[in-house]
Amino acid sequence: MPSSHNLPEYENVHEEFTWDELYEAADWNAPDELNIAHEVCDRHAENKEKVALYQVGEDGELTTMTFWELAEATNRFANVLESLGIEQGDRVFSYMPRIPEHYVALVGTLKRGAVFGGVNERFGPDGISYRLADCDAKAIVTTPENRDTVADALEDAPTVEHVIVVSDDGTGIRTGDVSYRGEMETASREYEPAATSGEDDALLYYTSGTTGLAKGVRHKHRWVTGVAATQKYAVDLQEGDCYWSTGDLGWLTGPINTLGAWFWGTALFTYEGEFDPETWADLLDTYPVTVLFSVPTAYRMLREHQEVLEDVSLDLRHALSIGEPLSAGVVEWGEETLGVTIHDTYGQTETGNMIVNNYPTMEIRPGSMGKPLPGIEADIVDPETGEVLEPGETGEIAQRGDYPCFFAEYWEKPEKTADCFVDGPDGEWYLSGDLAHKDEDGYIWFEGRADDVILSSGYRIGPFEVESSLGEHEAVAEAAVVPKPHRERGNIVKAYIVPSEDTTTSEDLKEEIKAHVRDELSAHEYPRAIEFREELPKTVTGKIRRTELQDEVEEEAEAA
Ligand code: ATP
Ligand code: MG
Repeated sequence: MPSSHNLPEYENVHEEFTWDELYEAADWNAPDELNIAHEVCDRHAENKEKVALYQVGEDGELTTMTFWELAEATNRFANVLESLGIEQGDRVFSYMPRIPEHYVALVGTLKRGAVFGGVNERFGPDGISYRLADCDAKAIVTTPENRDTVADALEDAPTVEHVIVVSDDGTGIRTGDVSYRGEMETASREYEPAATSGEDDALLYYTSGTTGLAKGVRHKHRWVTGVAATQKYAVDLQEGDCYWSTGDLGWLTGPINTLGAWFWGTALFTYEGEFDPETWADLLDTYPVTVLFSVPTAYRMLREHQEVLEDVSLDLRHALSIGEPLSAGVVEWGEETLGVTIHDTYGQTETGNMIVNNYPTMEIRPGSMGKPLPGIEADIVDPETGEVLEPGETGEIAQRGDYPCFFAEYWEKPEKTADCFVDGPDGEWYLSGDLAHKDEDGYIWFEGRADDVILSSGYRIGPFEVESSLGEHEAVAEAAVVPKPHRERGNIVKAYIVPSEDTTTSEDLKEEIKAHVRDELSAHEYPRAIEFREELPKTVTGKIRRTELQDEVEEEAEAA
């Protein structure tokens, strides 16, 4: 089903798109007066009917919040923070489910001029304290269910002065805690957003920690314009949309899609609970979700359990994906089952936004991440020489220029920040650490993280191509490949495979799968070793942790 977009064609978007236009749309005269909370909330609050949030609780109950209500609640929250002595620039973190108060805390913190960061609930005490202590956070907002975990974390995070607990009946609030409900009730409903500038810190989000310890990434208030650009050109938000971005506020995709949608006054849909195919199918059936933004794992799981979608009436106009490679097979499945082409998008916590996207205005090539976002400079660059590479040549995805979403730096890690840059013949580039090539038409094709590349018999093998091919075999639900040390070949490709439901695994099946990849790709890329697993190691955000598998394989090789 083609979307009825109103965007200029991709080729023309560069001409039609200017940051000035967005600065104007952002309703401020100069970026030296800019507060995200005003742009995404207060600006829309005049119309008392305009819905900002549809939230479905784990109990299935729907809560609706208008921009007017959001503006009032965030005024109160900003007042609460001020009364607690939270100053501009202080870090305030959240550790809570996707409940309306979480969104209030996000926007209210920005309104106060403080810096917001989210920690996903799947982290335990160590994950929380690592983040809070790293950036000397001053406050954390949480729920009674999470209060004990937060208490454990605070033993190693001494700078936290305030624990704000959202409790309906007062349970779970400890002595010395701040009661969210109590304070909100008495706080003034008036608040003038802090007079921040575009250059002031707004968000401090940590990377997913897929390759090692997570890094704190600083983003400024001007970040919101870049986010607005992707929501316009890639997400293609339109009047009347109901936008379900499944990303949690515990990683940057949450604020990107939430605040980006609200910049345009679009209603956001969110579900408190975790991913579950049946529940998701129910939600899509019950609510008029027109735009779905999720991750490949979720799409793959829906494909695994697609019977749940059989009698579901979908209102989808558009679907997108981020975070991990999206294979052509999943895109084709989406077309058949969801009735929309899932558009892949690429970004990092550091890039602050999706810098490569598939746009509704261009032909989609399934398996490609698309093209750079209009208005920014991104390309494929040789990480050693800093030279821009030709079509077909593999290098790192790189970016440069004064783009509002681009990170200021890693929190107190100047060497790590400096390591990300390379000097080239025509200037400096930021290197993403992700390998890809572009084709003759400028479409970018992801190959794998630079750290995950497999060197075998003199070939460089990007894991994604092999994993995609494996994923197209009916016996494979999920796969990850890593290098396995090998005497003659240096390494061979080893595949860890989660078999699809009802599959009986056997040595014959392994041979069949090997033959499938050999036929599809080539004799040097197919996995010479296969191991079946019930599940793959993942980060809390659901990304496959190849480094963990790699460690296992190395130990195995040493033992042998
Ligand atoms: P860490 O930096 O701590 O190791 P991380 O890189 O996973 O963790 P994020 O910033 O959350 O942390 O994720 C960005 C990374 O996710 C990208 O660098 C890339 O490897 C991967 N990624 C994002 N979108 C895509 C995509 N569309 N296709 C392939 N990979 C993607
Ligand atoms: Mg990273």
